Amino acid sequence: MLTRAIFNDEHHLYRSAAREFFDREVAPFHDGWETQGTVPRELWEKAGAQGHLAHTVAEEYGGAGVDDFRFPAIFTEEQGRVLASGPGFGVHSDIVVPYITSIGTAEQKRRWLPGMVAGTTIGAVAMTEPGTGSDLVAIRTRAVKDGDTYVISGSKTFITNGQLADLVIVVARTAEDPHGGLSLLVVERGMEGFERGRNLDKIGLKAQDTSELFFNDVRVPAQNLLGQEGAGFVYLMQNLPQERLVIAVMAVAAVRRAFEITMDYVKQRTAFGRPIGSFQNSRMAMAEMATEIEIAQVFLDRCIMELNEKQLTADVAAMVKWWTTELQVKVMDRCLQLHGGYGYMKEYPISRMWVDSRVQTIYGGTTEIMKELIGRSLGL
Ligand SMILES: Cc1cc2nc3c(=O)[nH]c(=O)nc-3n(C[C@H](O)[C@H](O)[C@H](O)COP(=O)(O)OP(=O)(O)OC[C@H]3O[C@@H](n4cnc5c(N)ncnc54)[C@H](O)[C@@H]3O)c2cc1C
Repeated sequence: MLTRAIFNDEHHLYRSAAREFFDREVAPFHDGWETQGTVPRELWEKAGAQGHLAHTVAEEYGGAGVDDFRFPAIFTEEQGRVLASGPGFGVHSDIVVPYITSIGTAEQKRRWLPGMVAGTTIGAVAMTEPGTGSDLVAIRTRAVKDGDTYVISGSKTFITNGQLADLVIVVARTAEDPHGGLSLLVVERGMEGFERGRNLDKIGLKAQDTSELFFNDVRVPAQNLLGQEGAGFVYLMQNLPQERLVIAVMAVAAVRRAFEITMDYVKQRTAFGRPIGSFQNSRMAMAEMATEIEIAQVFLDRCIMELNEKQLTADVAAMVKWWTTELQVKVMDRCLQLHGGYGYMKEYPISRMWVDSRVQTIYGGTTEIMKELIGRSLGL
């Protein structure tokens, strides 16, 4: 296995703390949360109290102020190691918080960030609507300016942390202009007319709450507009590369874990009087996966450093997102096959990893949309 050169002693120390958190606070309870369809709010508060949320937030707003994506990446990797697909920490810390830190006013930062660091204010981002997902320009949720408020009407769907969220960044149309008419507005728990649909019944990610959200003429103070009116599309394009990188981190962590689990299995399971790992086909499969995991890790680590250097471009983020998530789907399937019938049984972790992996090539932009983006960057 190649050494990962991107980490120093501080990162290794942080990995131990993150590992301890997931081993103690998450792994023993995750099966129960799968049945409940969500994780408890107290888990978020524990994560916050131990410094595991919103790592990049400045100290003046209660954060650790580490402008280094390797820390959240380590946290996400450790989450993947215990197969904890439930807590939507990544969406909160690495997708929602960066909108506020990058384009929020000082007043907005003071209002929202301390709670987001502490885990008492849980974040979500609502782009997708029942009628449109890939095509953000077709967003129909409206926000009409009325004095010093915006009145939001419309609905969103498939929103991660939808049940738990206290703060939702809603992408809404404030003008007809296809790209220049989108704005980001923060809707908060308890605002009149803001309603949540049921917790959606998914095939995987069973412990993660995903919901439809309804906005029935929700009056949002103009102070909740994030950034400039009409610049929403630009902000989305600026933030989506990091969102895609987080998904790639999850993908590579998952394939590593699936590989380890499968290695153990093919060594101990026997058929025809020998371990199944000793058949040439199994050895080839494991060898191919071992190679692909190294390729994925090197590419991903380079992208993490590019993000740290503010150099990660949208097209490279799209590459790492589609390639690692397609690899994840492929690896899960091969690992399940190597488990034979046991792989299809819920008590074997590979079965859950196989189902949980399937969404990775869909959310955060589908594989097809990623390739469209890359194709366009090639001038085609
Ligand atoms: C578990 C889960 C969590 C999610 N969390 C969130 C969240 O927190 N916030 C949020 O806003 N959204 C979230 N989503 C939504 C997700 O981002 C969308 O489902 C995704 O972007 C695809 O949109 P869609 O489902 O409308 O599919 P569609 O856009 O209808 O696409 C359907 C198919 O058509 C293909 N297609 C579409 N356009 C093209 C094209 N131009 N060229 C080629 N093929 C094309 C797609 O690739 C796909 O295969 C989540 C989804 C899931 C399942």
